[in-house]
Amino acid sequence: MEFKHKTILVLGAGVSGIAVAGILQKHGGRVILNDAKSASKIQQDFTFLERCGIQLIFGRQDESLLADIDYLIVSPGISIHLPLVQTAKALGITVMSEIEVAYRLCRAPIVAITGTNGKTTTTTLIGDMLRTTGRDIVVGGNIGAALSKEVETIGANGLVVAEISSFQLEGIINFRPQIAAVLNITPDHLDRHHSIDLYQQTKEHIFKNQTPADYLVLNYDDEKIRPMAERAAAKVMYFSRKEQLPQGVFVQQGSFTIAWDDQTYVICPVADLKIKGAHNVENVLAACGVAFLAGVEPARLAAVIKTFQGVEHRIEFVAGINGAEYYNDSKATNPESSIKALEAFAGNVILIAGGRDKMTDLAEFTGLIKEKVDQLILLGEAKDRFRAAAIKAGVVNIHTAPSLDEAVILAHHLAKPGQIVLLSPACSSYDMFANYEERGKTFKNLVRKLG
Ligand code: ADP
Repeated sequence: MEFKHKTILVLGAGVSGIAVAGILQKHGGRVILNDAKSASKIQQDFTFLERCGIQLIFGRQDESLLADIDYLIVSPGISIHLPLVQTAKALGITVMSEIEVAYRLCRAPIVAITGTNGKTTTTTLIGDMLRTTGRDIVVGGNIGAALSKEVETIGANGLVVAEISSFQLEGIINFRPQIAAVLNITPDHLDRHHSIDLYQQTKEHIFKNQTPADYLVLNYDDEKIRPMAERAAAKVMYFSRKEQLPQGVFVQQGSFTIAWDDQTYVICPVADLKIKGAHNVENVLAACGVAFLAGVEPARLAAVIKTFQGVEHRIEFVAGINGAEYYNDSKATNPESSIKALEAFAGNVILIAGGRDKMTDLAEFTGLIKEKVDQLILLGEAKDRFRAAAIKAGVVNIHTAPSLDEAVILAHHLAKPGQIVLLSPACSSYDMFANYEERGKTFKNLVRKLG
């Protein structure tokens, strides 16, 4: 009822802006949807919104929009530090992000996951683990549909699992997850958050409204995250890949283990996990902690761990051809992610990398390439800089390909039994594809054609 008869300006006509505009209108608000881009530049169909009575203002974004506004909803793509948003605050307009709206409309408790990396994998795992209880579960946020749309479908007995980016956390007010998790914090998006400290502070918003009745799952191995316990009101459960903790989730004698309330639960061997890499062990530890606190029995956690196939485009197994295994890691759009992928394999890799260059430092990446990669195939706008960096690191067997098609054919030609052919570009895809998903799907189709 909060939004009934209120005048609400939604900034940003992307997926979440459009969703939240429609929902607020349904809840009786008078909604204006604004985007600085002109309608012709936004590839969306707005006729439905107009038919619902939502006012559309496109092609300008100035202070005149703020007249008579009660609420300003800021899309994740728009910074809360934008002068227009600051002016709105100064005028007394209530400013919030789309997840704050979702929280206010949601009848079910919320489980929220944030971190620099691993959010989608961990959130997906948690969703799968919670579904084993038979309870109604929706998974949303950065994954799939906008959270405000997802929460509409769920009653008080259900549970919402939300992947939350730091952009969404900038604009929360009362958002209070019953269980929250912070996975890791590494420099990312510093263009927008200005400094790592500010980025960390934004991540901490996830638990700022929690009370002692709530839980907070924290990565013990991350030195920025471990001390968050001191600032949290919720009960803290740590997870660690490196240490055995008196309480929490960790690896003991090769098995995922939970120690909690004077009980120890051995879940299953780490070796049962199908998805690769130490980073995924961390994601599983975090997911086990959250799901356990939400009431999932350890045996059910084990069942999910043993069958979880991972999320598409993240070190995803595609096919075995002539004794070589092909993996799609198109989501790796920066060297850090490709490093994680290379670390997941013992060696013997034919690596396909390159795309739109983010001009990131390549020293660590090329050092690892020298160690693990037998043949390096480079493509896209980044290929010359990557080639120079690889040569500097002492990498031999460097090839270039004019397209992904040709890179796959070359990899197939070079591959020997026992080798791994890995697409892990360490670059964005925009020089050749619409997005990383299209790049990954193209790769998979090309590989399957080889088979
Ligand atoms: P996000 O949703 O946070 O982008 P994903 O689950 O989609 O995370 O994983 C994206 C990439 O981040 C993966 O391809 C992998 O390279 C890296 N990654 C995943 N989990 C972790 C982790 N726990 N720690 C560090 N890097 C990770």
